[in-house]
Amino acid sequence: MQNSTPETTISDSIRQEVILKYQILDAARIAIEAANVGTWMIDDATRVFITSSRVKELFGYESGQELSFEAALLCVSENHRDKIAAGIEETFRSGKPYHVDFSTSGLPELKLRWVKAVGGLYTDPDGKLTHISGVMMDITEQKQQELRKNKFIGMVSHELQTPLTSLRAYVQMLHAWARKQKDHFTVGALAKMEKQVKKMGNMINGFLSLNQVESGNIHLDLKDFELNALIHDTLEETRLLNPGRTITFSQMESIELQADPDKIEQVLVNLISNAIKYSPAEGLIEITTETIGEMAEVRVKDEGFGIVPADMKKLFERYFRVENKQTEQIPGFGIGLYLCAEIIRIHNGKIWGESEPNKGSVFCFQLPLKIRSNPSTNA
Ligand code: ADP
Repeated sequence: MQNSTPETTISDSIRQEVILKYQILDAARIAIEAANVGTWMIDDATRVFITSSRVKELFGYESGQELSFEAALLCVSENHRDKIAAGIEETFRSGKPYHVDFSTSGLPELKLRWVKAVGGLYTDPDGKLTHISGVMMDITEQKQQELRKNKFIGMVSHELQTPLTSLRAYVQMLHAWARKQKDHFTVGALAKMEKQVKKMGNMINGFLSLNQVESGNIHLDLKDFELNALIHDTLEETRLLNPGRTITFSQMESIELQADPDKIEQVLVNLISNAIKYSPAEGLIEITTETIGEMAEVRVKDEGFGIVPADMKKLFERYFRVENKQTEQIPGFGIGLYLCAEIIRIHNGKIWGESEPNKGSVFCFQLPLKIRSNPSTNA
């Protein structure tokens, strides 16, 4: 009996399929190499980390050298290590795409590089997790340009703050004086001026915070405070600046937080001013608070233009603005919701929006309640 070789048993169509697959992979490999992009993979069961030579190069390793995940992490700037490892676990857990920018100062020349890593979760035909694989690329030049731009924005905003503070003080003084004189025209004009100065101050604060977030220098000044009282204070000022608007606030109970009150106020101001900006003058704005389990929840509801689902997904991205007939005349930079999301994220909270076009939107956030110390354990 004659032995059949693999060549004689594999049909021509299967062979063609394999050749085609190989050509596609080859084309992908050539394209990846031409773009100077590295490829990597991390296995679910063993957490073995496999990389192309370009990835090794990005971490300062030579192509023949072994690069483990732990060794790669050691080359990453200390303040970026946690997000790399946490991102991998999050992708394995939730299946969300992996996307992290970090800086490395790899051996041998200890040159600082910025790297973008993106990846996706792969499963076998039975749906069992197998690995995350993706690409890494050098984004140093782009990042340095971004950092220069942020530094410039930060510097300008900082310089603008000083004259604006003194302008605000003089406007407030004049306002008080004009009220005393019962000079109604001047009172009205100064009230409008105060509103514009306040708006400018909020914009500058937004840019300063953006700069802090981008450079990773956002710090929390944690204090114990009552959330509803903070909302009352914020609303007092908002109502003064927007006398025509109806804004209601209903609260259930006192809510004690340990958080940065200035930053939480910034979130509230952003959400309330968006509700005002993106809804008609007669639209009602309702704010509510409640506790849900271990979290405090705030909801800011409006009867505005609403947002279509496709835009809803991008709302919390930096510089994103909805572009349509209703919003084209409304000023803004698209950083408010991005900042809100960052502030809430570093407080270990959650933020989201729900909306129905032409009906209105509700933006909500949750923050962990202050942990009550147990008197019996203090004794
Ligand atoms: P800005 O208001 O400066 O553009 P934001 O980051 O605060 O930036 O908001 C991003 C975009 O989301 C806005 O441009 C707007 O189109 C949309 N948006 C935010 N809040 C609302 C809202 N309450 N109703 C409708 N659209 C909103």
